[in-house]
Amino acid sequence: MPNSAIALPVPDELEDVLDGLERFVKAEVIARSDAHQELLEDVRRRFGPTGAYSPEVVELIREIRMASAEAGYFNLAVPEAMGGGGMGYLAYLAAWERIYHLCGGRRWLAQFAISHWAFGPSAVLERVTDRARAEVLPGMMAGETMMCFGMSEPDAGSDATMIRTRAEPDGDGWRLYGRKIWTTHVTIAEWMIVLAVTDPERARARRGGISAFLVPTSADGFRLDRVIGMWGEPGGSEAESVFDGVRVEPWQLVGDLHEGFQIGMLGVSLGRIYNTARSVGLSRWAIELAVEYAKQRQAFGHPISEYQGVAFPLAEAATDIHAAHLLGCNAALLLDQGHRAIKELSMAKTFAVRAAVRAVDRAMQTHGAMGFTNEVGLAEAYHVLRVINVADGTNEILNRTIFQRLAGGDTDL
Ligand SMILES: Cc1cc2nc3c(=O)[nH]c(=O)nc-3n(C[C@H](O)[C@H](O)[C@H](O)COP(=O)(O)OP(=O)(O)OC[C@H]3O[C@@H](n4cnc5c(N)ncnc54)[C@H](O)[C@@H]3O)c2cc1C
Repeated sequence: MPNSAIALPVPDELEDVLDGLERFVKAEVIARSDAHQELLEDVRRRFGPTGAYSPEVVELIREIRMASAEAGYFNLAVPEAMGGGGMGYLAYLAAWERIYHLCGGRRWLAQFAISHWAFGPSAVLERVTDRARAEVLPGMMAGETMMCFGMSEPDAGSDATMIRTRAEPDGDGWRLYGRKIWTTHVTIAEWMIVLAVTDPERARARRGGISAFLVPTSADGFRLDRVIGMWGEPGGSEAESVFDGVRVEPWQLVGDLHEGFQIGMLGVSLGRIYNTARSVGLSRWAIELAVEYAKQRQAFGHPISEYQGVAFPLAEAATDIHAAHLLGCNAALLLDQGHRAIKELSMAKTFAVRAAVRAVDRAMQTHGAMGFTNEVGLAEAYHVLRVINVADGTNEILNRTIFQRLAGGDTDL
């Protein structure tokens, strides 16, 4: 599936990696998803009694991660200093676009095809201690183990400075007390990056005071409180958890003490690239599906593609997605050049996720009643795209960031 519409020169090395990744995804992700379709799609089998993934599903997820690591794709965007491919943000964007374009709405194991920053190795873990590098990283790089990212709390969402989980000094280390919510994949992760207040005064003044710790989810004092169902499903990926005196030692600190937000912001940058790519990839898949359907579905003596009421909205959706892709490429290139690209990254993510919801909605409408069925997979795509209008920075918060940059003089458009 070459990207022939883009003038941007994609390095030959990246094209080769993407072609190899495509073969890998077909052989290991799509084939496995199709072979276990009933287990993965029937929510009565996908989730166990607590609402967490059933052990068979957890095993499939691990198999895909490990196969990807073995094939050399899992860590393609992980910094070289950590033993990864060091291919950077553009490669991260292009790889996720390709993965979601190929997998579409139903093959949700796609999210494990390469390392997602919140679930596995990335630049976020570049500043772990030597001990964590030796004891934690190898398992994650091999795809054997995974992590999750605990920033949000019941009273700290968009305004993450309201985090109340505290790390109380305890000898040479700390003890964690608090509650995290919405943590994706905490039910299946061996490790969690936890943001906690280490200097209440600085935290209150919104000048740091929050640190990041790498915590095993098997630690004494840690417990899952509940899995949070969404969209009427009996289980889910997000859960709420409690820290009741979890002991953390200096080797578990990630980055500098009191500067945990830097770790959070690095993750969020990768997350915004990921979600831009996921939006573009899934929308490409949905638009292609709708165009094919429109060409063969007959009404009033003609294929419905001949009616402008069907064709023009799809043309507009395609234009939006093309623009989203270009915004994503530009933001990724800026990041690769060492810029923070705060405005451009915010623009790319908020534009892409909104355009993707519209594109998938339009693909559903083109399919008539068929658009809502379980067979087509557009409903699944709609669900994941709709929620990323909130996750990783809501559209409103991204607009707030864009405007703050404009008001501060960053008016290059
Ligand atoms: C599927 C999913 C997965 C997630 N995974 C994780 C995870 O793994 N780890 C993690 O830490 N968190 C995770 N989150 C949480 C996510 O980061 C938060 O949902 C997000 O930051 C928004 O916070 P909130 O939901 O508390 O909404 P709130 O902050 O309560 O916002 C409510 C509404 O008010 C609006 N609003 C708030 N402030 C302003 C303002 N100043 N101007 C205009 N509008 C404003 C918001 O845009 C929103 O529409 C996940 C969320 C979802 C949906």
